[in-house]
Amino acid sequence: MHWRRTPAPWSVSSGWVRSSSCSGYRERPPLFPHLDIKMIHTATRDIFQDTIAEMTWFDVEAAAQSGAILLWAFGVIEQHGPHLPTGTDVYIPQAQLRRVKQILDEHDVQALIVPPYYWGINVVSGSFPSSYKVRPEIMKELMSDIFESFRSDGFKQIFCFSGHGDRLHNLTIHEGIQLGAQRSGLDISFVADAALLMRLGIALDDPHACLPPTRLRSAFQALASSPSGPGVGDSDDETYLDVHAGRWETSMMMCSCPQLVNEQVRSSLPSTQYGPDDLAEWRKGFEHARAKTPQGYFGDPAAASVEEGMQALEATAQRAAQAILDRLQRSRKS
Ligand SMILES: [Zn+2]
Repeated sequence: MHWRRTPAPWSVSSGWVRSSSCSGYRERPPLFPHLDIKMIHTATRDIFQDTIAEMTWFDVEAAAQSGAILLWAFGVIEQHGPHLPTGTDVYIPQAQLRRVKQILDEHDVQALIVPPYYWGINVVSGSFPSSYKVRPEIMKELMSDIFESFRSDGFKQIFCFSGHGDRLHNLTIHEGIQLGAQRSGLDISFVADAALLMRLGIALDDPHACLPPTRLRSAFQALASSPSGPGVGDSDDETYLDVHAGRWETSMMMCSCPQLVNEQVRSSLPSTQYGPDDLAEWRKGFEHARAKTPQGYFGDPAAASVEEGMQALEATAQRAAQAILDRLQRSRKS
């Protein structure tokens, strides 16, 4: 069997580079001069990078026959303030999955990454332009159809992730998994943190929940970003919350897809300095969220850094990989 290895995806300059100008060649500074690109092996703006979309059907069939698992992230196109692209909730989970795949590979677990799902559900950002929404039943049926395709291809275990924190989006992922598992008979699970599941009212021992073995409530900042608030409370100043397009998400984008971060705007944005009451109001969604955060971010994007993003990406990927390895181990015992 032949496994295609893709080249290092990094495309941002690591040092002084040549670029053409009317006067010939001139030097221009790198986007992030302090960045050690050797530490970043997952950065790219290509959401198909390292996914099934880059493979031939021969390779996919061979992987299914040799017992490979599938990793599938469910993001959304959604406004992310004046400094981040609307695809933020797609770029970040793809970067995390590329790293999860590497870690699993180190444990001799073959994993293929499914091309990302991005027609999700927006409630909080629903009143902003470019925040698209589909009906939950459409998303669930689409998920179920694709799961059925996985089954006919010979895959047996699918691990789903969320790139977006909207409550309804995540409930729909869970219901789509239940529906797909019921129809296909596949082992499909939702790799998530305990805090997200509790917020959704899903039991931690739900058969489709895939949690890190320790099941520590706050330890796993899930792949879910934005309104689920994985960054909540991790600011230097614990007084304020960092929830959407703030310090955490911006840091993740600065390390995983820096070409699409508007540095000039980012560094000039004041912290929203909001607390739990503001979060409750914002989570009502639509016009409430737009009134609360007219610029579209909730947190402190100016405090973001590449280093923080790299640490967060590595930590979340390690814990997600541990959750998967734990479930695989348990399913092989039973
Ligand atoms: Zn987001």
